[in-house]
Amino acid sequence: PPAPSNRVLDEQRTFDEQLRPTRLSQVIGQRKVKERLQIVLDATRMRQTPLGHLLLDGPPGLGKTTLATVIPRELDTEIQFTSGPALKAPKDLVPYLTNAISGSVLFIDEIHRLPPAVEEYLYSAMEDFRVDIVLGEGTNARTLSIDLKPFTVIGATTRSGMLTAPLRDRFVHQERLTYYDTAELTEIVQINAKKLSSDISDDAAREIAIRCRGTPRRANNLLRWARDYAEVHGGGTITDDIANRALEMREIDKHGLDEQDRRYLTTLIDVFTGGPAGLSTLSHSLSIPADTLEDEVEPFLLRTGLIRRTPRGRTVTPAGWEHVGRAKPDNDGD
Ligand code: ATP
Repeated sequence: PPAPSNRVLDEQRTFDEQLRPTRLSQVIGQRKVKERLQIVLDATRMRQTPLGHLLLDGPPGLGKTTLATVIPRELDTEIQFTSGPALKAPKDLVPYLTNAISGSVLFIDEIHRLPPAVEEYLYSAMEDFRVDIVLGEGTNARTLSIDLKPFTVIGATTRSGMLTAPLRDRFVHQERLTYYDTAELTEIVQINAKKLSSDISDDAAREIAIRCRGTPRRANNLLRWARDYAEVHGGGTITDDIANRALEMREIDKHGLDEQDRRYLTTLIDVFTGGPAGLSTLSHSLSIPADTLEDEVEPFLLRTGLIRRTPRGRTVTPAGWEHVGRAKPDNDGD
């Protein structure tokens, strides 16, 4: 298969890849999504036609890339990788489209960040497997219409709400990934510890599972950290005690909140007396991009009921005040 382009092979990426399931049967959790995908995959194999375009939605680190890489393996075909921000103009998309072999997958990460011109160009490619390309420039320019091989777009997004309706409608299948429960995460930690040839006790695996904010990618990072810690401070085995000490040193609390999460809460409390505060105001106070807050920080705080989103902005709930050890001033408790 051709070398995947636009692929940042940084350390994080290789680490995730090492731990990534390769078959659908190895993907833990997301039971309903897996069941539906299995049916679509079976039907695709029987019909020998390409899989319908698939949109995967959900917070970062829940396995969108994992599912996208598992699918072409199950179908015994190729995958090309690109992302919304990497495709600045329609011409950037052309090589992917013309390289796509029949039945192959084009994975577009952060598809909500495609520039409108590229998005429009993608419509006809997805719908008719045909695109127009402009050859030459100025008065010499001429348009050539070319046929593409039928292929499948798998789009990943943290914000399906930001997709335009025409783009969203071109995805025959749409699946939303949700946070994992502790049992599923414990299993992921145990399997991945094995892949890393690391010894971990059941209690320690569970501790990491509880404190990874429902997110496998975070579980992997904590596992890697606990493994380093165990090698330096213990005999190499990640015991419950080692895991607790390692997590404490990373300042991950009992609920899985890290320093950044707690700073979000304390800023909202100290600077805005618990809110409401708008996203951009908060983003300035914290010096954290609004996108990061909305995609990576807030979903977990919302899910655990520590903050609330109101039409006037974000507010800290009583549980949120309590979590960072602050007394709510207007508490009418007594
Ligand atoms: P992003 O949205 O930022 O691209 P992602 O949702 O695509 O993130 P992945 O990179 O697919 O997340 O997952 C990160 C890692 O988490 C994988 O390498 C894998 O080890 C683990 N993982 C994710 N989902 C699962 C799963 N369902 N079963 C087992 N392991 C998983």
